[in-house]
Amino acid sequence: MASQFDVIILGGGPAGYVGAVRSAQLGMSTALIEKDKLGGVCVNIGCIPTKALLHSAYIASLLREAKEFGVEAGAVKTDYGVAMQRSRKVSDQNSRGVEFLMKKNKVTVVKGAGVLQPGREVKVRKRSEIRHEHRGTPRPVRSRTQMSGAGDSA
Ligand SMILES: Cc1cc2nc3c(=O)[nH]c(=O)nc-3n(C[C@H](O)[C@H](O)[C@H](O)COP(=O)(O)OP(=O)(O)OC[C@H]3O[C@@H](n4cnc5c(N)ncnc54)[C@H](O)[C@@H]3O)c2cc1C
Repeated sequence: MASQFDVIILGGGPAGYVGAVRSAQLGMSTALIEKDKLGGVCVNIGCIPTKALLHSAYIASLLREAKEFGVEAGAVKTDYGVAMQRSRKVSDQNSRGVEFLMKKNKVTVVKGAGVLQPGREVKVRKRSEIRHEHRGTPRPVRSRTQMSGAGDSA
């Protein structure tokens, strides 16, 4: 038996999750299908983690120039591992923030890869089923409207 929604959105990146929140705010039952982490490229591997790394580099460069400004900071050591760990933490926090936003706005998040079908149906395969294509029956979800926010990976 297929789950029924007013709107199904494929992809939980910035395009998809913002669209999902708006659609739910307008009173439509909304499903967001995401095959990986909520937040998409921007939150998980793009804008957010790169800016977190850049901030580490910025702090190191400030400290290296500090003497010129009359501030004694001593020898500056950098640790890329620590910077990377922090960057991952910031991304994960942001992704959980998107998850919270979905709950708050009553958007149903369906984990898996969606494939558009005729008749406004989307079949969703779990990650384990993507790796083993022959296994499992994809879960169908139906809607009046479908939107794609599947980004470059579509
Ligand atoms: C290194 C880097 C740095 C960047 N920095 C910036 C920046 O500073 N500022 C800025 O504005 N932009 C930046 N960008 C660009 C920004 O990341 C993208 O513009 C933005 O992520 C696009 O959002 P989107 O929702 O369209 O797609 P995406 O973020 O790609 O999200 C698509 C989502 O759909 C999911 N998906 C795809 N197909 C399916 C399917 N069949 N079923 C289920 N889920 C699916 C994917 O898993 C993904 O989560 C950067 C990009 C990169 C790579």
